Amino acid sequence: MINEYQIRVTPEVAAQEDRLKNYLGDEYGLNPSDIKGVRILKRSIDARQRQIYVNLKVRTYVNELPTDDEYQHTEYPNVEGKPQVIVVGAGPGGLFAALRLIELGLRPIVLERGKNVHDRKKDLANISRTQQVDGESNYCFGEGGAGAYSDGKLYTRSKKRGNIEKILNVFCQHGASTAILADAHPHIGTDRLPKVIEAMRNTIIRCGGEVHFQTKMTRLIVDSGQLTVDSCHADRVVGVEAVSANGQLEFRGPVILATGHSARDVYRYLAEAKIEIEAKGIAVGVRLEHPSHLIDQIQYHNKQGRGRWLPAAEYSMVTQVDGRGVYSFCMCPGGFVIPAATDKEQIVVNGMSPANRGTAWSNSGMVVEVRPEDIEGDDCLAMMHFQEQLEKMCWQQGNMKQTAPAQRMADFVNGKLSYDLPKSSYAPGLISSPLHFWLPKMISHRLQQGFKAFGKSAHGFLTNEAVMIAVETRTSSPVRIVRDKETLQHVQVQGLFPCGEGAGYAGGIVSAGVDGERCAEAVAQYLEQIAN
Ligand SMILES: Cc1cc2nc3c(=O)[nH]c(=O)nc-3n(C[C@H](O)[C@H](O)[C@H](O)COP(=O)(O)OP(=O)(O)OC[C@H]3O[C@@H](n4cnc5c(N)ncnc54)[C@H](O)[C@@H]3O)c2cc1C
Repeated sequence: MINEYQIRVTPEVAAQEDRLKNYLGDEYGLNPSDIKGVRILKRSIDARQRQIYVNLKVRTYVNELPTDDEYQHTEYPNVEGKPQVIVVGAGPGGLFAALRLIELGLRPIVLERGKNVHDRKKDLANISRTQQVDGESNYCFGEGGAGAYSDGKLYTRSKKRGNIEKILNVFCQHGASTAILADAHPHIGTDRLPKVIEAMRNTIIRCGGEVHFQTKMTRLIVDSGQLTVDSCHADRVVGVEAVSANGQLEFRGPVILATGHSARDVYRYLAEAKIEIEAKGIAVGVRLEHPSHLIDQIQYHNKQGRGRWLPAAEYSMVTQVDGRGVYSFCMCPGGFVIPAATDKEQIVVNGMSPANRGTAWSNSGMVVEVRPEDIEGDDCLAMMHFQEQLEKMCWQQGNMKQTAPAQRMADFVNGKLSYDLPKSSYAPGLISSPLHFWLPKMISHRLQQGFKAFGKSAHGFLTNEAVMIAVETRTSSPVRIVRDKETLQHVQVQGLFPCGEGAGYAGGIVSAGVDGERCAEAVAQYLEQIAN
């Protein structure tokens, strides 16, 4: 007999199957030894009161074994010899586009400027060791994209549940824990993501698709020849030119352009080729790092912290200061602050966590909304230039290395230099710097006011035990590559499908995956149309 129940239990009961069986036995008159399996379908933590509860939706299997259908399986047919589609970028947008193309009977050719997810790891380690960033292999470039070495948070504000569940199920099919289907705030963890990404690549190749690493798209090809300044109007993209160790290459087919928010050379090329792009609002600020036990104490209302059965606590803060949002972004409980620059002479910080979220620190981006009208100039690349200036300034403040300028949180609010800094997870090292002084006033002032507000709503949050690490600029794309709402093709150029975060149509792993799938479907329709 299979039954489903909605229950509310203590964290200790929720974490142990035997305790859960006993609870279900007591509550619903079942014999615990008859319960052959308990599957958790939904899980969320209710930490509003001092006594923490876990809300669970569970399915019990009484006197029968659990079925083998923990996730929905997608069939991927062989697509050798089928029409090919070029996917530029192997981030979540590109990878999910490629897998969906296969489902639709099309053959993806994936081009990725960076290395495979395994080799990429060495270049990440090198950043802290040598203080040098490899411009083609870093925390943003390489197989898996910006999401590979991340927290792997998989929640999104998007409301399209069906599409989101498909993405989560595909992750499970490629090795992610099925807990991501149950958790209210699912995450995979940076130590587990690479294997999942590798499995996705293997599916693409096994079905007859191709994946080319260290192969960088340099130009689009239109049917009238090279796409150059002013030549693109009413043209159709039929492929790309790329460079790799084997020299210059050409790949033919419609193009899904999923190059992420950090491919500034791609934005420059599009602007130069007069392919319509527009400046887009972003959010800019710092990474704020607290000891994780402090966040646990605050969020779980308990001096003892999270105890044995609860995960490292999350938080989400938001306020308005002088007409702009100030908010926490991409919170990584029990994680690390990492150097996410993509080129020389820049410092950019971000965060990631392992699956167990077990480090001694919890961090989040603390950012201020910046709109195009806040920045001088009406150039379509103005927001990107603003990011670049800040990242360079930060590198100069950081002794022209990856050692990041930092300040204790309360010192920042009080406009004081920090004489020393707390221990931090940021491996390249920190250098004390008066962020209140040199960050643009529209950001520093709002952060100061925002921190005061957050300190009032969460007692103990505004503290000198927390350190701010500059600068967090890559929160989203500074540019939108404008596309048609219906066909998802670029508004001017047929056969070009701007996709994912870099195009300005996603913000996060899941939404980039959802957008990748939508772009694949749009390409299939486009190919059908031009064939008829
Ligand atoms: C450190 C870090 C942690 C993050 N943590 C989370 C998180 O926990 N949860 C979450 O939802 N989001 C997180 N994000 C954001 C998330 O990673 C992105 O929103 C998501 O990866 C965007 O997917 P995408 O495919 O659109 O672009 P990307 O992931 O940026 O992928 C673009 C790919 O295109 C490649 N590329 C660029 N130019 C070219 C070219 N010319 N030729 C060939 N290839 C090219 C790049 O190398 C890259 O691999 C994090 C980001 C970072 C940097």
